[in-house]
Amino acid sequence: MVKEKEKCSFCGRNKADTNILIAGLDAKICDYCVIQAKTIIDEEIPKKKNQTFSKAKILKPYEIKKHLDEYVIGQDEAKKYLSVAVYNHYKRITQILGKEQDDVEIEKSNIIIVGETGTGKTLLARTIAKMLDVPFCIADATVLTEAGYVGEDVESILSRLLQAADFNVEAAERGIIFIDEIDKIARKSDNPSITRDVSGEGVQQALLKLLEGAVVSVPPQGGRKHPEQKMIQVNTQNILFIAGGAFDGIERKIGSRMKANMIGYAAAKETDTIDKKNLLQYIAPQDIRSYGMIPEIVGRFPVLTNLDPLDKKTLRRILTEPKNALVKQYIKLFKIDHIDLSFDDNVLDYIVEKALEYKIGARGLRSILENIMTDAMFDMPSQKDLKHLQITLEYATEKMEKTNIAKLKVA
Ligand code: ADP
Repeated sequence: MVKEKEKCSFCGRNKADTNILIAGLDAKICDYCVIQAKTIIDEEIPKKKNQTFSKAKILKPYEIKKHLDEYVIGQDEAKKYLSVAVYNHYKRITQILGKEQDDVEIEKSNIIIVGETGTGKTLLARTIAKMLDVPFCIADATVLTEAGYVGEDVESILSRLLQAADFNVEAAERGIIFIDEIDKIARKSDNPSITRDVSGEGVQQALLKLLEGAVVSVPPQGGRKHPEQKMIQVNTQNILFIAGGAFDGIERKIGSRMKANMIGYAAAKETDTIDKKNLLQYIAPQDIRSYGMIPEIVGRFPVLTNLDPLDKKTLRRILTEPKNALVKQYIKLFKIDHIDLSFDDNVLDYIVEKALEYKIGARGLRSILENIMTDAMFDMPSQKDLKHLQITLEYATEKMEKTNIAKLKVA
């Protein structure tokens, strides 16, 4: 007879029938039971985590915007829209998780942000991502193609979200996806039926499926290179989509629509109040449609907002105000070498002027600063007695004059 002690206390297997029997204080467990227990843990813990997604954690729109203000300068209107959309997204998913359902279903408010390149679309999305405790990913629409063509299928977007969620499907299903450069999948011609438009309308149709809410088979590693990989089913119904795009030239469409609307009474009076330098602020869904987005896609993005072009004042603030402002970063770099770095005010004005002159926007601020600071960053750490470095206009101009301007151009 086998001694009680030599049995698994969970399944009763004899020691001889196990690979290993681990002894505890008053009990023993076999390798089979350990593996089964691990499976249960993997299933149950994510469920628990979802349940603790409590209301207490939800930031109010005002708090979300305040957080955005710490990193992104200006763009108040877009920040407001984003804050409300993210807040509502939280509410929507807590309602679903909390089973407080009634007949009123809160619908998703996917967002399109339209703004020139380098005005903060990705920065806004990234800042939101860091703040949230829902999975978040950024997908680039330019690489997407219709299934069967060279490029990535739209499902690859979900692979990325799954990876961001550590393959926790339930978490991914309430995540947020930022689709960058959505304008690049606009229909190229006004007549959709003449030629097949692989990178335009076809992709929009495929994307529509995700936006409408569907159960999609997702290759966990993305791409089509691993045909043998097991697909994961992801329901996109509660995923929030934020799309960004520059929509180059859309001002013309906005302008002509506004003009057409104004023909008739009081035309002269109204045109007086239009800010022609920033037509983007008047953007409406029909402009996106006439740019080449199919009506079904436009309909699935009920919130449309725009970013303002960055003027001199805003660029100047971007240099110093955000939590990780460029100037703060250089000061920190020098501090590590025990050197106090400071910039004269007119140097900062000069940097902004150069960025505007070379039309390289906020992205260019960094390359200009890098050009001014490289020599100092090379020399200073070896100069033992140096405790302070003040960047004057004279110093900055001298460095900039030596610079090959082509090098400053940002991609
Ligand atoms: P895009 O609109 O093309 O997505 P990004 O968000 O990538 O532009 O902006 C490029 C860079 O310019 C950012 O990394 C950031 O450093 C800076 N930047 C742009 N707009 C702002 C802004 N409104 N506030 C602070 N920094 C900004």
